[in-house]
Amino acid sequence: MPSDLSAKKKPETVSLSTPFNCVGCGKCCTDHHVPLTLAEAGRWSASGGQLIVLLEAFFEQGPGLPEDQREHALRRSFAVPCGDSQIHLAVTFAAYNVGPCRNLDADYRCRIYTERPLVCRIYPMEINPHIPLRPEAKDCPPEAWQDGPLLIHRDQLQDPELATLIERSRQADREDIRAKVAICQQLGIDASALKGNGFTAYLPTVEAMAKAIREVDASADTGSAWRLHVADPLLAEHLRMLGAQVNSEPATYYSFIALQAG
Ligand code: SF4
Ligand code: SF4
Repeated sequence: MPSDLSAKKKPETVSLSTPFNCVGCGKCCTDHHVPLTLAEAGRWSASGGQLIVLLEAFFEQGPGLPEDQREHALRRSFAVPCGDSQIHLAVTFAAYNVGPCRNLDADYRCRIYTERPLVCRIYPMEINPHIPLRPEAKDCPPEAWQDGPLLIHRDQLQDPELATLIERSRQADREDIRAKVAICQQLGIDASALKGNGFTAYLPTVEAMAKAIREVDASADTGSAWRLHVADPLLAEHLRMLGAQVNSEPATYYSFIALQAG
C-alpha cells in the first residue's frame, strides 16, 4: 500500500510514461499495513479489525525534517512537548495486515470493494508528494505495467479521479492529526521515532483502539510529554543537547522499526 512508510531513502526512477492495468493478483492486499483515515480506522476497529499505530516525529528546524518536505510534513503533524523541547508528531493508524487482509477472499477479491479504504483505491500511486512512483518498488507484477491507460505521462498523473482521491487522503491526514494524537495519549502511547531514522509501532487491542476512537475528544488537552526512541548513541546525544527526552533502551511495550540508511 502507498504510504509514507514506503520507498524511503531509495533512488528515484524517472519515467516519462507509465501505463498501468491492475491484474487483480491481490499482492497489495497481503502483508501490507494499510494506512487509514480516522473514520476508516474507526470502522475497521469497530468491525473487529486490528490496527497498528506508527509514529515518527521531527523538530521544526530539524533534525528529522527534510527542508524540501517542510510544508507537507508540517501540515500533517502536531506539535507536542518532548523534554525541554518540542517535536512535531506524525501518526499513522493502519490496518494490521500480516498475511492476507481480513477482507480478501479466496479469489483475491475484496469483500468490501465498494467501501474499501482510500489507500486501497489509490494503490499503486503514492500519497506523499515527495515520493515518486517507482513500479519496481510496488507489488504489481510486470504485466500490470506493460499496457493499459497511462497512469503517469511526463511526470503528471493522468487520472483526475485518482488525483481527487489522493488529495482527499492528504486532507484527512491534516484534519485527523490532532484527534489521532489525543487517541494515542488515551492509549498510553508516548514514544515516537525520529523521522527518517525509524518508526515506533504499537499494537493496542482491538477493543481498546475501538473505544479510544469512538470516545475521542479532539479538543482534549494534547500536552502530555513525549519522548523519542533513538538507538544510535551519537544521534541520541545530539537530540538530548537539543533538549529532547530520548530513550535508547530496548523498547518494551512498543517496537522500534529502524530505517536503513543509504
Ligand atoms: S480492504 Fe480490500 S482492497 Fe484493501 S487491502 Fe483489504 S482486501 Fe485489499
Ligand atoms: S498488486 Fe497491483 S496488480 Fe496486483 S491487485 Fe494490487 S494493484 Fe492490482
